[in-house]
Amino acid sequence: MSELILVCPYHKPLIDKLRQRAIVIRTNDCNLIRPILHTVNKSNKLHAIKIETDTPASKIPFDDDWKRIPIALYTSRLGSFKAFVHKLALLRQLNIKIFLSSGEEENYLNLCILSSLRIACGVYFSEPPVNWERMNDLMHYAVYSRTIHAPIEPFYYVVSNFEGEKQVDYASVYFDNPLRYIHINEKEQIAATSKDLEACSYLAEGVSSIDSLETSTQYRKYINNWQDFFIERRACSFCPAWRICMGKFREEAEQNEGCRVFFRDLMDAADYYRLQFSQDGKKVWQS
Ligand code: SF4
Repeated sequence: MSELILVCPYHKPLIDKLRQRAIVIRTNDCNLIRPILHTVNKSNKLHAIKIETDTPASKIPFDDDWKRIPIALYTSRLGSFKAFVHKLALLRQLNIKIFLSSGEEENYLNLCILSSLRIACGVYFSEPPVNWERMNDLMHYAVYSRTIHAPIEPFYYVVSNFEGEKQVDYASVYFDNPLRYIHINEKEQIAATSKDLEACSYLAEGVSSIDSLETSTQYRKYINNWQDFFIERRACSFCPAWRICMGKFREEAEQNEGCRVFFRDLMDAADYYRLQFSQDGKKVWQS
């Protein structure tokens, strides 16, 4: 099992206690990137910085200093395209992925544009309901388009990890897959996901409990609770796309089948993507 990565706030006393551990620091203030880079010392293994902000991407003060670390920027929208274009030269040098909210209609087109400008990007799921038709259009562009473009998440993660019968949890893209990431706050309360942390649903408390977390009853129970889906008769229990969604939209799935249609199409896209690579070296009529 690979090392669990801790997602934590920018809080120096906590970060000092997380020496030798892989961490993702989350902040909602872009002006803190430089202090974060100075605070984190060599004994912290900084995996990435996650910025969540309402400031549109066009107004973010991207900086040369940001080249030093992978940054996942979550913003509700792109903002002025004219202003954003002036930042492209620097953006292409950064190790950055820009995530836009699923809740804004304009973001679906803007993500296509970002991708075609070769800026790694992605959509994050904001408040339901999801516009599954627009999501499906974006996914089709991300996977099937033959024009050169940067990956769009979480589609790229799913299609590039899809094989055999194994489950593919795209929550990793958002640092939210509890098999890979766990969340901790300033009080050292530990939760499996960011939502659980917000909801005060903790698995453990104290930095000292991290080493034994993976073998703890609470964690094992949490990791295995997906089995409950198959005990009850719910829409998810019969869903062919369960292994790439794992019930993430279970509430709305009882009302409409938008999520099932989308995730089935995503599985088809993953098959297509795999075939593309297995075709390497074979003669084809068109390329
Ligand atoms: S796609 Fe919908 S029905 Fe299928 S597992 Fe996900 S939430 Fe459940």
